[in-house]
Amino acid sequence: MVHEELFARLNEVGYKNWLKAGYCLLKVKDGLCGFVDDQMRDFHNIVINSNTVLLRGKTCKNNCRPKNNQFQSVCPLCSEWKREILKHHTKPSGVINWGNCRPWLWPIEHWELAKAFMPRGQGGVTRAENCDAAAILNLLHLCDHFSSINHLLVTQVIHCRNELMHSCEMRVSDQWMAHFQKSLDQLLMQLRHVPEVAAAARQIQEMLSVDLSVHVPGVDGVDGATGIEIESISLWETELLRESLRDLLNTDEHDGAPVYADLQRVQMLHRFLSGHQDLEEQFRSELLSIQGLEEHLQSLNSDHEKQ
Ligand SMILES: [Zn+2]
Repeated sequence: MVHEELFARLNEVGYKNWLKAGYCLLKVKDGLCGFVDDQMRDFHNIVINSNTVLLRGKTCKNNCRPKNNQFQSVCPLCSEWKREILKHHTKPSGVINWGNCRPWLWPIEHWELAKAFMPRGQGGVTRAENCDAAAILNLLHLCDHFSSINHLLVTQVIHCRNELMHSCEMRVSDQWMAHFQKSLDQLLMQLRHVPEVAAAARQIQEMLSVDLSVHVPGVDGVDGATGIEIESISLWETELLRESLRDLLNTDEHDGAPVYADLQRVQMLHRFLSGHQDLEEQFRSELLSIQGLEEHLQSLNSDHEKQ
């Protein structure tokens, strides 16, 4: 059987929940990205039309580039863009991921502007469709253009998303799922007038009401088939594991100093991926990066102990 190992994983309640919750986040992203893209196009126009410097349509000629999260010593034009971004940021004194942006594209690309309101790691993303749920949700939370959406509901879903993606064991309980479903329902309800959001809400509801447990010969206590193709489950499992890995391998920065991933989380993910032959093959190159990170974190820990 091609997906024998995946079948076995789906019969573990906590992991199955983790996977379903991740699917819901993929749908949140699908439902929101068209709406958010349109809104950012409007926002980009509003910013330009309300600022006499930007209205002149000039682009940066000084090759101003962010250095990690820092964007200093910039030309008057980039400085004006920076001022507008901070003006519309709901947390202007927090970390702004300037490194996401290509400032010379701010005058012509609305998505470059959007990226200033997103978590790190968006540098290579040029379109809304290529963002993940975390990027879109943070944009809703951090850009005041979306102030009509209840921010508490957005942060609740962001919180759930982070718990899910940072969960060492990649398992969540039924109780957690109930809380997650409620948070998602409340957020999507706010935007139910957007047809794609209403469709995503329906797909989420369907997914949360089916049982993905499938029959594996020799395994007891399994439920009936669900009608969902195992191939599509396998695809979204890969997508989620990749997102989780991206989160883990992206070294965070705080005040210019790197903040390293949690060693325990790295070890758990390593163990999980290498404990399943299908995943071990699929994530071979990522496993090498994880191993490198693990060794680095271990050496940091032993240096720390020596001090
Ligand atoms: Zn510039």
